Amino acid sequence: MHPFHWVPADGQRHASCDQRPKGGYRSGQRVTTLCGRGVPAEAGDVAWLWETCGDCNVHAHRMAAAPLPR
Ligand SMILES: [Zn+2]
Repeated sequence: MHPFHWVPADGQRHASCDQRPKGGYRSGQRVTTLCGRGVPAEAGDVAWLWETCGDCNVHAHRMAAAPLPR
């Protein structure tokens, strides 16, 4: 497992190394993202369809030692 997880927050899907709360994030809960922001998480199903944050994607691929797809 990688040390980060994805969480929809503030209109985008971000990655975070925060401790994921038991039962998942509540809407409005602050989450620190890999792109260095503190944003309110979004718990709704639709939020998972938001587009991925580009900066988080770069950090996540780096942490996973995986090349970014072109
Ligand atoms: Zn981000």
